[in-house]
Amino acid sequence: MGKTLYEKVFEAHAVRRLPSGQYQLLMGLHLIHEVTSPQAFSMLRERGLQVLHPERTFATVDHIIPTHSQTRPLADAQAEEMLQHLERNVAEFGIRFFAPTRGEQGIVHVIGPERGLTQPGMTICCGDSHTATHGAFGAIAFGIGTSQVRDVLATQCLAMEKLKVRRIEVTGRLRPGVYAKDLTLWIINRLGVHGGVGYAYEYGGEVIDRFSMDERMTLCNMAIEGGARCGYVNPDATTYAYLQGREYAPKGAAWERAVAWWESIRSDADARYDDVVTVRGEDIEPVVTWGITPAQSAPVGAALPAPDSFPERERPLVGEAYAYMGLEPGKPVAGTKIDVAFIGSCTNGRLSDFEEVAKHLRGRALTVAPGVKALVVPGSQEVRAELVKRGLDRVFRDAGFEFREAGCSMCLAMNPDRLEGRQVCASSSNRNFKGRQGSPTGRTLLMSPVMVAAAAIRGAVADAREVFGIREA
Ligand code: SF4
Repeated sequence: MGKTLYEKVFEAHAVRRLPSGQYQLLMGLHLIHEVTSPQAFSMLRERGLQVLHPERTFATVDHIIPTHSQTRPLADAQAEEMLQHLERNVAEFGIRFFAPTRGEQGIVHVIGPERGLTQPGMTICCGDSHTATHGAFGAIAFGIGTSQVRDVLATQCLAMEKLKVRRIEVTGRLRPGVYAKDLTLWIINRLGVHGGVGYAYEYGGEVIDRFSMDERMTLCNMAIEGGARCGYVNPDATTYAYLQGREYAPKGAAWERAVAWWESIRSDADARYDDVVTVRGEDIEPVVTWGITPAQSAPVGAALPAPDSFPERERPLVGEAYAYMGLEPGKPVAGTKIDVAFIGSCTNGRLSDFEEVAKHLRGRALTVAPGVKALVVPGSQEVRAELVKRGLDRVFRDAGFEFREAGCSMCLAMNPDRLEGRQVCASSSNRNFKGRQGSPTGRTLLMSPVMVAAAAIRGAVADAREVFGIREA
């Protein structure tokens, strides 16, 4: 009987079985940022410990960095202090910092792949929930808490349970105007926010095989929103083409050896899965969330579901969602007025996300609707520089979008980009929890970047296929 990639990578990194039944798992790569690392470093100092593998630890600043201007000192004294803490910690412990001053800064899940750090067959961890993103490369990647950040800094290991593996097979093709974001929201809607608990998700099938690395990252990024501890795609020629030549990718003979190893860790054809789910690509529509979890979503033009169509135990949450969002069952989410449009985040802040939107804006007299604040926030300085090089910043600015500096921005609003009061935001980010975007009463509608742009232009949620004339070939 063959094995899955998850089993092979897990077994290759398992140091020993612990009395608790968990495994001590060696971490190949540890990514850190300014929010979840300061306490971990303080705990190391208190115990007189060093970072065991500084050469496997890399830092960036993303959550608190303002996107208007990164000029130092930062206008927010607390943010400036957090950045200074990070700078002191990386200097003291000898950790490579992708600093804003070097043009290397960005969201932790954007810069890992961009620098070639994220590679197939690795175990990767980071003190951030969306670390699953790195699974796009055939790595097994976990979000961890602050005390675990401390543990990994000190030992390069984590105590982990072995997960079951669910294969999610996406057949056929996606129709024009339907994107990786729609697919990931579709899967979460179908399996629920707890459907993946105890599982690693392996995404495969024709649709995934054709996906670019950016699309695979969008898909894996939200595995955690479906309850899965991690999500991954088996590495292939697309993965290797993306990695080759990047700063930390193997070079020369080491590259050949690496590709041979990467090929060997792909799931075997006769691998046994604990569960298999099949999704037909053609069935998927552009999806928008209408509630307060990423599973509470619907095709943009569909009538929102009646509370009594849900299992009894889910109805209180459904009622709470409708009351909070001010939306009504039986009506479509299309037509819901928006105040803010946000294109960015570690889900959809990569070059191809912005290119796809710009493709639909360029050469058309389409502008952001009056009264709507529309932000374009690149996921990294490198993405931003490339957009400027290609003249796409101008396309966005001409259409009335604000073109900002790189950072997490309005995904979590630990920086000046925040909703106010009951504002409604069309967002390409990954969480629509109550208050997620900075205002305790703010409302978030998750959707693809192209759908966000369509909402910005109409001033209300709209089917991007109609707004931009996207048709079947
Ligand atoms: S963009 Fe959002 S989800 Fe991603 S790392 Fe930043 S705050 Fe976390």
